[in-house]
This record gives sequence, C-alpha cells and structure tokens, in this order.
Amino acid sequence: MPATPAWPPRSLPRLYVHSPVSEGASLELDGAQANYLGNVLRLKSGAELLVFDGSSGEWLARISDPGKKRMRITVERQTRGPETIPDVWLAFAPVKRQGTDWLVEKATELGAARLIPVMTDRTVAERVKLERLNAIAIEAAEQCGRTVLPQIAEPVRLARLLEGRDPARTLYFADEAGGERAADTFVPGPALLLGGPEGGFTDEERNRILAARNSVAVSLGPRILRAETAALAALAAWMSAVGDWR
Ligand code: SAM
Repeated sequence: MPATPAWPPRSLPRLYVHSPVSEGASLELDGAQANYLGNVLRLKSGAELLVFDGSSGEWLARISDPGKKRMRITVERQTRGPETIPDVWLAFAPVKRQGTDWLVEKATELGAARLIPVMTDRTVAERVKLERLNAIAIEAAEQCGRTVLPQIAEPVRLARLLEGRDPARTLYFADEAGGERAADTFVPGPALLLGGPEGGFTDEERNRILAARNSVAVSLGPRILRAETAALAALAAWMSAVGDWR
C-alpha cells in the first residue's frame, strides 16, 4: 500500500458528460449512466465520481439526487486540466465491424487525436456508423483516463484525403511492400498515419500516395499484419518514437 494513496483514487467511476462541466454545476446524467451508478454500482446520494466533458479537464462530482432512471450530480472541483494530445491522426480503411470497433477503442487508448475512416478501392466495409464509433471512443476514454476525446471524421475517399491534406502534416504510409524503419522515420511534428485495407492498396493508389508531398513509406516489420493491427502498430510506434510515451 503506497504511503499516500494516489488522488483521485483510480477506483472512482469516471463518466463523460455531454454538457459543459464547471465548479458548482448541477448536471443531469442520462438513463444509462443513472442505471450504471444506481443499479450496477449501487451508489447512493453523496457518492463521488469523476466526470469530463472532453475539453475542460476532469472534475470531482457527487451524487446529489439519486434515481434509478435519472440522476443529478453536483460538480465540486477540478482534479485535472485537459491533457495535451499529441498531434497524430490515424487514417484507416474500415474492416469488418468488430475489427473497426476494436481499432477505434485501442486507438483512443493509445492517444490518437483524430480518426479518419478512409474508403479505398479494396475497402470491405461499405458503411461506417459514426455514432457507434463515437460511443466506443467515449467508453475507451472513460476507461483509460483521457479527458479529451479523439475526433472521428466522416469517412473520406483516399483521393479526397490526399487532395485535402495539408502537406505540413507528414503522411506516414504503412507499406507492407517495404519502407523506412518506422522508428527511424518518425520525426516530431503533425502526423497523418495511413494504414491500408485488408486486401492492400492497389498499385495506382500506392503510386498516388508515394507521389504525395511530404509522404514517406514506413515498414512495420517483415510480417504481413492485418489491417487493424498495422494501423495500431503504426500508432504505437509513433507514440513511442515522438509521441507522449517518451
Ligand atoms: N497487400 C496485402 C495483401 O494483398 O493481402 C496485405 C495487406 S495488409 C493485410 C493491410 C495493410 O496493413 C496494408 O495495406 C498496409 O498498410 C499494412 N501493413 C501490413 N503489414 C505491414 C508491414 N509489415 N509493414 C507496413 N505496413 C503493413
């Protein structure tokens, strides 16, 4: 047992709230949150929890009006300011639903600032449910201690992504056909990591990516990784080389 237990205790429930949080604010939780605190955790009036709204940091709050279907909390004080999220965007080709859900959860935990579903010629998933992906990112942020949520962009065609990209943001293209060693290639600065679909990029797409300004092909090792694994491996490698893991 550490001499002085960490504050706030990691065991406090942690919830994302859609309304702005400030000292003294009285907030109504939604039905699912009320059910979770009231029925699952069986918390009573006066019980503490942590809340965050995605921009103002993390706050200690207390249940002021418990209810099974709706619940009110009162915000007491800020426990942490909003963290600085490394400026890394992850563009990924959506795979089957379970794989995409998993990717969004893990990319949120790993610290991506922005997630961009990219539709390529061989992308299998036709549709991406943003509402669902946002809910998955919120749950992952609640669990991993983030106070700032990743932005999840509207799906975009690869050509549009390349055209609309600011060349000041370095494009790191995960290329199973070979590229620079990721760890030696990542440099500090705004980054866009791009991972391909399960079937890979077409030659035409690959040439277009390689021809883009300030883009570099990176290798993630000698093995062919699944699309979702490759996207997360690139993010982890970037975080370790130039992100906030250093
Ligand atoms: N092109 C292959 C094919 O035809 O089956 C495999 C594609 S791989 C399953 C999916 C994506 O993961 C690739 O487009 C690439 O972006 C990335 N990827 C997989 N292994 C990689 C590696 N060793 N290095 C870099 N990127 C990799």
